[in-house]
Amino acid sequence: MILAPMGTDDPIGIYIHVPFCAHICPYCDFTTYAGKGDLIPSYVDAVMEEIARRAGEARGREIATIYLGGGTPSLLSPEHIARILNTIDQQFPVLPEAEITMEANPNGLTPEHLRGYRAAGVNRLSIGAQTLDRRGLRTLGRQHEAQDVFTSVREAHAAGFERINLDFIFGWPGQRRESWQRDLQEVIAMGDEGPDHLSLYSLIIEPGTPYADAQARGILVMPDNDATADLYEDAIDMLDAAGWTHYEIANWSRKPNGHSRHNAIYWQHGDYLGIGAGAFGTIDGMRVMNQLLPERYIVDLADGRLPQSNTEPLDEETARGETMMLGLRLLVDGVDANAFQRRHGVSLTHHFGLQITRMTELGMMETTDRGVRLTKRGMMLANSVVTEFL
Ligand code: SF4
Repeated sequence: MILAPMGTDDPIGIYIHVPFCAHICPYCDFTTYAGKGDLIPSYVDAVMEEIARRAGEARGREIATIYLGGGTPSLLSPEHIARILNTIDQQFPVLPEAEITMEANPNGLTPEHLRGYRAAGVNRLSIGAQTLDRRGLRTLGRQHEAQDVFTSVREAHAAGFERINLDFIFGWPGQRRESWQRDLQEVIAMGDEGPDHLSLYSLIIEPGTPYADAQARGILVMPDNDATADLYEDAIDMLDAAGWTHYEIANWSRKPNGHSRHNAIYWQHGDYLGIGAGAFGTIDGMRVMNQLLPERYIVDLADGRLPQSNTEPLDEETARGETMMLGLRLLVDGVDANAFQRRHGVSLTHHFGLQITRMTELGMMETTDRGVRLTKRGMMLANSVVTEFL
């Protein structure tokens, strides 16, 4: 069970951003850079320095999760990952059962690297598969083949990873429904030899990306909303029939309690430290954003400055709305009324009674014995529902 929202003294997460990629995919708007791999050793030193300098912000709270995201963290060697994780261990009380996830691209993941990451303490991998369709991989500008996905999952298991997520993108230009259904069937058919978790994201064209430019020039034609909704419903139906749990709008788990505990901290509106160039986090009601450029980030830390570009307090009214926006993404557990009262000092029905009644009458939300959650209809229109609370 995922109890949302979290309390202000609960364990926290640490997110480490690795802003390097071998090349930039045309749809990507993450903070990441190609051709800067020579910065990696000094970047790792800077990350270790930032961890040490910011340890006090946690006030001794335990670390439940660590997430190395990017970018492509698997461009770092196992030794780099070990140095970062050892620094966290030295500076924070890390829970013995902490979930430590690393994102990876399927190509270039060797068995030796996988064993090294596992030995360094990483216990969960999130692999960017995106699609198993060859044409789709080229459309998305990916550099791996479907076979690399199968190989990396198999070799990750052999290296001792029991928890593996695959990321997929649906609704890319030219994607046929049969192709998407085949992707899902292939993943389902892997059974125990496959991933235990899936994150499925519909493709969104972000401003400033090559995809946005191509769309503006009429070269890239996106599927319409109905076609993308059909793909989402295919995933819901097929994974449900195969026994997977759809526990969050874009996330499915194959095993009980197999959810991403790090991402759950976000949905539970919990606190997390964001470390690295372009990282952001929220701790004790303060939102902190770091410098985007890795060069600037490295220089700031080398000169004894914190690499922060922006800090902003989160007011209580906004925090209550965000608790709903995030917690309603949890399709099974939703927002817990007692936890809301503990966190925000006001009852859920007192503060959001009107909105809950309206959304319930429209069939978008339902009341459970613990709180409120979205209905299936509400899930399909989640963006409209959450704006009621913001
Ligand atoms: S590999 Fe991931 S982070 Fe890197 S450019 Fe592609 S989508 Fe973006």
